Amino acid sequence: MFRRILIANRGEIAQRIIRACRELGIETVAVYSEADADALYLSQADETICIGPAASAGSYLNIPAIISAAEVADVEAIHPGYGFLSENAHFAEVCRSCKIHFIGPDPETIAALGQKDNAKQMARDAGCPVVPGSPGSVDTESEAVKIAAEIGYPVIIKAAFGGGGRGMRVARNEPSLINGYHAARSEAKNAFGNATVYVEKFVENPRHVEVQILGDMHGNVVHLGERDCTVQRRHQKLIEESPSPMIDEDTRQRMGEAAVRLIKHAKYHNAGTVEFLLDKNGDFYFIEVNARIQVEHTVTEMVTGIDLIREQIRLAAGEELGYTQADIKFNGHCIECRLNAEDPRKDFQPSPGLVETFVPPGGPGVRVDSHCYSGYRIPPTYDSMIGKILVHRPTREMAIQTMQRALGETVVVGPKTTIPISRAILDHPDFRQAVHDTGFMERYFGNSAALAGLR
Ligand code: ADP
Repeated sequence: MFRRILIANRGEIAQRIIRACRELGIETVAVYSEADADALYLSQADETICIGPAASAGSYLNIPAIISAAEVADVEAIHPGYGFLSENAHFAEVCRSCKIHFIGPDPETIAALGQKDNAKQMARDAGCPVVPGSPGSVDTESEAVKIAAEIGYPVIIKAAFGGGGRGMRVARNEPSLINGYHAARSEAKNAFGNATVYVEKFVENPRHVEVQILGDMHGNVVHLGERDCTVQRRHQKLIEESPSPMIDEDTRQRMGEAAVRLIKHAKYHNAGTVEFLLDKNGDFYFIEVNARIQVEHTVTEMVTGIDLIREQIRLAAGEELGYTQADIKFNGHCIECRLNAEDPRKDFQPSPGLVETFVPPGGPGVRVDSHCYSGYRIPPTYDSMIGKILVHRPTREMAIQTMQRALGETVVVGPKTTIPISRAILDHPDFRQAVHDTGFMERYFGNSAALAGLR
């Protein structure tokens, strides 16, 4: 096992990793930008190192600065968290060449899965159902037109190196395809430095269900069930839950097995997520693998009792899983609401600045992962998520009740937050009956009139 780990991240995930390390008896080195000098996670680490200015390019994405911090602090491993360098194959490669363990899959695996059209081909090869579409990248407008005519409209044009819901365009006819093709390419080029796109069938009103995977370096793979992340706004997840209220036991089992087949085929080790879309008929299709820990990993921790960060660290150190699929037991229902410093009444615009008072919820069945505190100043530079509120109860209905209670007692004075929208979602009959799909937010909360009426 490692003696000392550097955490190449910030905020709640840095704190989450420090907590896992503490319990494992591992020393932690936290890095920070000048904008994060007052961050809570710094007081919880054994050592802290400033790696650069506020802008991520100079700090949390600055590979030479992070590697020199790791060398100066003499760590054996780096945990990249999520976002930033977590799915950067080059960074994983640099760690390897510096003889520092990267807590995640191999650089080759990250690179292979990070190109989404390539990941889709791997899924096909592993016998995993995929959304019908172009066999690989689509490099000309005329090719896009031809493929779209073959698979039939509507189609979606997606950035091969995309993430975070960017670089995607839906087209319902040829003129919008031509526009969308060029728009997606230029957005992809700007956001990801690579304009490559591919085209696939747009699944109407899908549900988003993903499977958590753990694999060791000895060929053992298990899945830890699914998370339902259907509540999304502009492809960004807002609420996650497990188990999915949308699938039956048979689908659950087939989805889990399909995910395991792909992960074994990819020779993937460490934690990862296989994402699927579920259509109205209950058929599921692979869309992508996230080769890292995800924000919503916490939901799976609650229902399985498995500490995913601890497992990541253990597996990166070369330990065996030590359990099989049959050992994994699922218990109760978990719902997570992301707590974002955004103003839902003003088109979700970021609302950074001083948090005068922060009182997190508590009581039975409540977990809060947050780096927020009274007196914390949320920097405008980074993601607006300031925490995650989770509830774990015996049934979905009870989980919804507990979440309403928990959101009701949460106090954030200063910035606006997404609490009012989370409460409205939980009250909505479609959510309650679990008949919602990824169009839910747009349909019911897509215009300013609906948002202005939030409590
Ligand atoms: P990213 O890596 O940017 O998050 P994903 O491929 O995971 O991109 O897709 C994000 C979301 O976009 C999905 O959860 C879904 O809501 C929507 N989406 C992606 N592909 C399709 C598709 N073929 N049909 C319908 N919706 C899609």
